[in-house]
Amino acid sequence: MENESVAEDESVVENESVAEDEFPAEGESADEAADLHLHTTRSDGRLSPSDLVRQAHAAGVRVLAVTDHDTTAGVEEAMAEAARLGIRCLPGVEVGVQCLGADIHLLGYFADPRGPALQALLSDLRRAREERLGAMVQRLRLLGLPVTFASVRRSVAPGSPVGRPHLAAWLVARGWVRDLEEAFRWHLGDGGPAYLPNRTPTPEAVLRILLASGTVPVLAHAGVVPSEEVFERFRAAGLMGLEVHHPRHDPATTARLRALAAQHGLLETGGSDYHGFGRDLPPGSVRAPAGAVARLDAARREVPRILETLYG
Ligand code: AMP
Ligand code: ZN
Ligand code: FE
Ligand code: FE
Repeated sequence: MENESVAEDESVVENESVAEDEFPAEGESADEAADLHLHTTRSDGRLSPSDLVRQAHAAGVRVLAVTDHDTTAGVEEAMAEAARLGIRCLPGVEVGVQCLGADIHLLGYFADPRGPALQALLSDLRRAREERLGAMVQRLRLLGLPVTFASVRRSVAPGSPVGRPHLAAWLVARGWVRDLEEAFRWHLGDGGPAYLPNRTPTPEAVLRILLASGTVPVLAHAGVVPSEEVFERFRAAGLMGLEVHHPRHDPATTARLRALAAQHGLLETGGSDYHGFGRDLPPGSVRAPAGAVARLDAARREVPRILETLYG
């Protein structure tokens, strides 16, 4: 899993200069066009799984991963659409984990929509989100915003994970704030007056379940991880990769993360984290480095060994 010796700035340019309608030449490795971080309507994205796959395909993406928050509900539809279009869709998930006061996101690749232990974890996380939504609604009401749990809950399909974007959408729709940005800046952002963290299992508990389910765990948007201590906690518990390429990473951050991944023998992944709102970059706008998908496939075969080593 060692890094290629591509010059740092070269990889950044490569990531940012992707033409949206440029299709890879016949026979070119599909790895060149992999977007491994995408959201759908099954969590807080704007496109259905099928529409997302079609849009990614139209942007030249040849391998994508659907990584909705705390659910794999969109995976099967996306994989069917990808098969129809002749591209590859990896089943994925993005799981929020509280660690030392921070909300850390793990991407799980090869997340089995029918794996019982994984699905039990995800349904626990979604249930905790319901409780948190109720508590955040109370906080907003104390701020004088007449939101109700029922009105927000109605805007999200039963069984789908609820979160701050849905509260923000309510505030925008009723004219209490101008846009999602303002909703987060004034009320909902980390440390904001209506913010509450999700209640989640520990990093060790989550990583153990992911690994036991055959899922490859990768630290999402690793540039926002707040401390060495947090990183080390995940690394020691079985983390297998870092999301190095992400719209929130500036070139210096990307370079630092590439070095960190190389130092610890971690995979290097990347994606657009497309939700379809506001100033989001389109699917395919940020891509995994060449060879990342093949290394992810290889990492998948290593999961049982890592599980055995760390958790017996
Ligand atoms: P939650 O998982 O409920 O804590 O909500 C976090 C989600 O809110 C993220 O995954 C983003 O999709 C969205 N989000 C976070 N910050 C902002 C922001 N400033 N503006 C718009 N959306 C945001
Ligand atoms: Zn999201
Ligand atoms: Fe995230
Ligand atoms: Fe995400």
